[in-house]
Amino acid sequence: MSAISILVIEDDEAVVELLSAAFRDAGHLVRAARTLAEGRRLLEQANTDMIIMDRGLPDGDGLSLCLTLRKDSRFRGVPIIMLTGKDAPPDKVLGLRFGADDYLAKPFEMDELLARVDAILRRTCPGAVFLAGRLEAGGIVLDLPGRRVMVKDGVIDLTGREYELLRVLMEKAGTVLTREFLLGTVWKAQGGTVGRKTVDVTVMNLRRKLGDKGALIVAVRPDGYKMLPAGK
Ligand code: CA
Repeated sequence: MSAISILVIEDDEAVVELLSAAFRDAGHLVRAARTLAEGRRLLEQANTDMIIMDRGLPDGDGLSLCLTLRKDSRFRGVPIIMLTGKDAPPDKVLGLRFGADDYLAKPFEMDELLARVDAILRRTCPGAVFLAGRLEAGGIVLDLPGRRVMVKDGVIDLTGREYELLRVLMEKAGTVLTREFLLGTVWKAQGGTVGRKTVDVTVMNLRRKLGDKGALIVAVRPDGYKMLPAGK
């Protein structure tokens, strides 16, 4: 799982704080610039995986920097999300034409911005930790919208039942879940057509696929399983 480096170019301090906190919580590196000039300087200084940029900045329109970067072979591939108060459709078209990868009007919902960042990261940084719709326990990461399971840098291939079982165990990490409960939630058990043995077999297969992380799922006598909480 690799951290990504995000550059925020924004003169609204409240937005900078909000974005920085969200990205840092996800383990990413964040640098913030308040002007276009400072943004350019930070770009030159260190690797940047994504830029989130306001349009109305003290020393000019973010679109001009967007255009400059798209003509520079060093920065051409860095995804840019534009933020703006000017949400009229012609402006949006202009932003995308100037090379922005996405465009979000202020005031925006944080969840929506994070989902859009994730959508771009899935394309450009497949090993990145996602921000929205993510569940993590003991180094296992579930990307909920993508229904993907990641351990370290690898994606684990699970069946639908194994995925659902893992999701429930992770959501309730630390709690003992009985076989009856698991049959009801994962198998939606219909009148005993699926037996308790099925739970055991699926847990066994899931553990095997998770490799050394499989040890996080433990049997609890007399009748259930639990996922050890992170750090145990
Ligand atoms: Ca501004």
